[in-house]
Amino acid sequence: MNEIQQRIFELKKQQDAVILAHNYQLPEIQDAADFVGDSLDLCLNAKKTTAKTIVFCGVDFMAEAAAALNPEKLVLHPDNTACCPMAAMLPPATVIEAKKQHSGAPVVLYINTLASAKFHADALCTSANAVNVIRRFKEKDILFGPDKNLAYYVQKQLPEKTIIPLPREGHCIVHNHSILLEDVQLLKEEHPNALVLAHPECIPEVQAISDYILSTNGMLHKAKGLSAKAFIIATEEGICYRLKKENPGKNFYKMESALCRNMKKIIAGRLIASLEKKQFEVKVEEKIAARMRELIEEMLKVNRSN
Ligand code: SF4
Repeated sequence: MNEIQQRIFELKKQQDAVILAHNYQLPEIQDAADFVGDSLDLCLNAKKTTAKTIVFCGVDFMAEAAAALNPEKLVLHPDNTACCPMAAMLPPATVIEAKKQHSGAPVVLYINTLASAKFHADALCTSANAVNVIRRFKEKDILFGPDKNLAYYVQKQLPEKTIIPLPREGHCIVHNHSILLEDVQLLKEEHPNALVLAHPECIPEVQAISDYILSTNGMLHKAKGLSAKAFIIATEEGICYRLKKENPGKNFYKMESALCRNMKKIIAGRLIASLEKKQFEVKVEEKIAARMRELIEEMLKVNRSN
């Protein structure tokens, strides 16, 4: 254990804190975390922890979910400027307006949404369970946001539904702009035996040439479970650190430019400062938090029944 890791370890004990980190975090943060996972895993772990303090290494909407699930705990976000631009593309006013225009259409929101927008949703989902969550609605028209590429993926799986993207052009800047068809094709030419694992936030053209379309946790399971020895990973590059660590005998080719600057704002120094100074506390208004707890509980029921 190096000096920085030692300091984090001591502070964690002093503060009775648990560190949760998203799969896209820097290696130094993943190594310091008690748990590394995707949005759904982190929700589950935030719910289960008995620690008094949760330090959430990820972006704003994830820390908000942890705070909503744990109103009695201190939830810290080491850098409160680490905000997801895609979540910001769907302000609550857009959801309210869409509900008026499409009356009767349920609103299903991806977990990558701000708490204030989630308050107006009928259901929440992650990239791993979006299809199963939407399938359960009897209505044909479904308002779905904020990612248009995930909406496209769900629409392909559920042709009997009409998925209305909300907003029309919502997207993750990393998956939409930094994982281009040409980049994936080039890696395929260089590594013809490699399987392509793509996130459903990728553009339809990249989804079309992928072998599997998966959430980040889905990628971890798939890479472990398959006998293939090489994979092209079409998602934010941070996951490759964990993939390599858990599968030392396999090769993972990452998309070099697919880097989320907001995720990477959490560095070890900020994590230490967060534990030392108890900053930055995340609070969600109780009315909104209570609705989020209901929605997350409903979403988890869908997972348990599939
Ligand atoms: S990778 Fe995309 S969706 Fe995830 S936090 Fe960054 S901008 Fe948001």
